[in-house]
Amino acid sequence: MIETNQSTQPKPSSLLGYSLADLETIYAEMGEKPYRVKQTMEWIYKQRISDIEEMSNLPANLRKHLSDTYYLNDLQHIETKGAADTTRKFLFRLHDGRYVETVFIPASVGLKGKQSTRKTICVSSQVGCAYGCKFCASGLAGFTRNLTAAEIIGQMLSVEKIAEQPINNIVFMGMGEPLANLTNLTKALEVITGHWGFNIGARSVTVSTSGLAPQIRKLAEFPAPIRLAISLHGATDEVRDLIMPINKKYPIKELFDALHYWRTHKKQKISLEYILIEGVNDDLDQAAILAKRAKGLNAKVNLIPYNTVEGLNWKRPSESHCIAFRDIVAAAGINTTLRLEKGGDINAACGQLRLKKETSEGIIKAPVKTTS
Ligand code: SF4
Repeated sequence: MIETNQSTQPKPSSLLGYSLADLETIYAEMGEKPYRVKQTMEWIYKQRISDIEEMSNLPANLRKHLSDTYYLNDLQHIETKGAADTTRKFLFRLHDGRYVETVFIPASVGLKGKQSTRKTICVSSQVGCAYGCKFCASGLAGFTRNLTAAEIIGQMLSVEKIAEQPINNIVFMGMGEPLANLTNLTKALEVITGHWGFNIGARSVTVSTSGLAPQIRKLAEFPAPIRLAISLHGATDEVRDLIMPINKKYPIKELFDALHYWRTHKKQKISLEYILIEGVNDDLDQAAILAKRAKGLNAKVNLIPYNTVEGLNWKRPSESHCIAFRDIVAAAGINTTLRLEKGGDINAACGQLRLKKETSEGIIKAPVKTTS
């Protein structure tokens, strides 16, 4: 069965980073029975224990080996900020002293005024971001590192524990470009959608990207029907270039070719996210082109009036202009929303996440982000 040799033990890693298949392989190599894998996963994702020693139906030698070799969630909760609309933003410290932010949005009223039971978490996928979208607070500080799958899952476990509410909707719209961290993203998606893991329906999981066309094609192969959102923010290359540096590498034609490829694999409608910025991308001609592109893809359009970001000079268009823009897109038969952002009063709306931790020594800033 298990033999432990401290001198040859690898550096501990988190059990949260493993899928069922990964753990089956690890346990098989240790000579453990397959049902021990199921028991282990139940302790982590059903019982939500915080210490491996609590896995009381595992043999003592297995528990000791697991405790010596692995840990569970090592995110340290530093701070919570609550918004008037009950949105809450959490700051976590990672094992290397970096920080990430995660947002929890318990919707009380859904579409058409109906009561909603949706409880959404907006998770970060990287510390900082290398893509530098011009509206985005996260891009301001540059890229530091990818989050591991365990750190992505750790955000969910931590938020559920602190908020004392189960999550049933996940958006990868926190700090970082998730598709630039594809390996850890797909591993986390396995845990999120797995019946042995979080067991959240794939249709309640949305990955948002700035438009990494080759990675969109790769993620299309993920077997579960997850949703995709694109930070478009410009309907022509000329306008998108002003906002999204990634557009130089993967211009609109290449991006939309990848989106059509995605549509051949997934039934769910793609969402085109479009932040309305006064005098930059809010010309009504852009609305007409956007409508045409959305129609060709059978996509939804989410219009988001720009949220002021400290350090950036752009402005939100007037409400009447936002409505005029929306009406042009909607008139083409596109499912269009003009989003009333939640969390704007705590900088937790799209494009506003940024690590900012005040301490007695001053302000610690690390990159965190927004939309991808
Ligand atoms: S919007 Fe997303 S991809 Fe763009 S800079 Fe912000 S985090 Fe990065």
